[in-house]
Amino acid sequence: MSVFTRRDLLASLKETLAEKGLEKPTEIQELTMPPLLDGRSVVGVAETGSGKTLAYALPVLNHLKVLEHMGEPVETDSQPRAAVIVPTRELGEQISRVFKPFTHTTRLRVRTVLGGTALEVAKRNVAGQFEVLVATPGRLVKLLDRKLLNLSDIRILVFDEADQMLDQGFLPDATRIVQACPKDRQLALFSATVSPAVQKLIDKVFGDAEVFRSEGHHRVVATLNTVNRTVENGKRFPLLEAVLADRVEGGTLIFTNTREQCDKLAEELRKHGHGCAVYRGEMDKVERRSNLKAFREGKVGLLIATDLGSRGLDVEHVGRVVNYHLPQQLENYLHRVGRTARAGRAGTVINFVTERDAPLVSQLNSVRAKAGK
Ligand code: AMP
Repeated sequence: MSVFTRRDLLASLKETLAEKGLEKPTEIQELTMPPLLDGRSVVGVAETGSGKTLAYALPVLNHLKVLEHMGEPVETDSQPRAAVIVPTRELGEQISRVFKPFTHTTRLRVRTVLGGTALEVAKRNVAGQFEVLVATPGRLVKLLDRKLLNLSDIRILVFDEADQMLDQGFLPDATRIVQACPKDRQLALFSATVSPAVQKLIDKVFGDAEVFRSEGHHRVVATLNTVNRTVENGKRFPLLEAVLADRVEGGTLIFTNTREQCDKLAEELRKHGHGCAVYRGEMDKVERRSNLKAFREGKVGLLIATDLGSRGLDVEHVGRVVNYHLPQQLENYLHRVGRTARAGRAGTVINFVTERDAPLVSQLNSVRAKAGK
């Protein structure tokens, strides 16, 4: 029996799973959903693309709906019962999209409070009654300070992509949020890596949580086809054009290491008649968002990104990732390639390799050898 067929998982949730063709739980779902459904606290070590959002979204909705069935619906404004804390607005938006089809049938309400949007919007979002809050830490703390939001009825608190959140210096805000919730709330923390900062947060507040690691963690996924292409001196762009001449299903995500490389490549591609959009740090947020939207909707087939685009984003239709410039860190490489071949779908990664990339390539080969691939 899989966790999707458990008797205590509500029929309305099972129906939506079936409608969406989600029949078999992913590894991280099979590991973390049972303890979460039983009300226990967990730490899940899993990459984006592993299905971790549903691993906590389903238990959250199940729990809150059962409370309603037991005659305890939410009756107070601005007082949610579950909070999902995320590092970026993009991830927050993505998570509320995952919740949406399931809240449709359960009739539970999800509201967002995300940095990078007008504070007025956040205020309006939390003004009435709702069950689930998806929030970035800074913006959430601002609303707490102004007493526009009350976390005293939180039953489940989730930290998603905790490593990225703490990288951005959110530990004080995260601690503050934990303190604003009741002591006996259930906790869930998901993270691609357990960095020293994540370990600190785990030690501080997740002392009694069970830790689950998805086996696929840190491994390049099975359906990924990796091709290394050697770059001849000065021939990086012609090689890219040759690669792009091969059509693939879905969009192509091209990674560079710096903002300058990103802009320069976009300019060169446009000059050669390839429509593309840019996704990098330090650009106008509205523009970045609309570029991502155009790519997600297939209006533009090429997205040129820096490592900012490698984490967290669920762009379902990425058929190919090109590492135009390979990163120096294996960690960044794994995040980048995690954008394709998601949840078992096929995908291709093309690495542009120069002599300088030898250390990374040998590290990659040893990861693959360990994974038996
Ligand atoms: P996540 O790791 O939560 O970002 O999910 C990555 C992708 O996997 C999303 O597009 C989900 O719709 C998809 N997904 C989640 N659970 C399953 C499942 N059990 N079977 C197939 N796909 C899934």
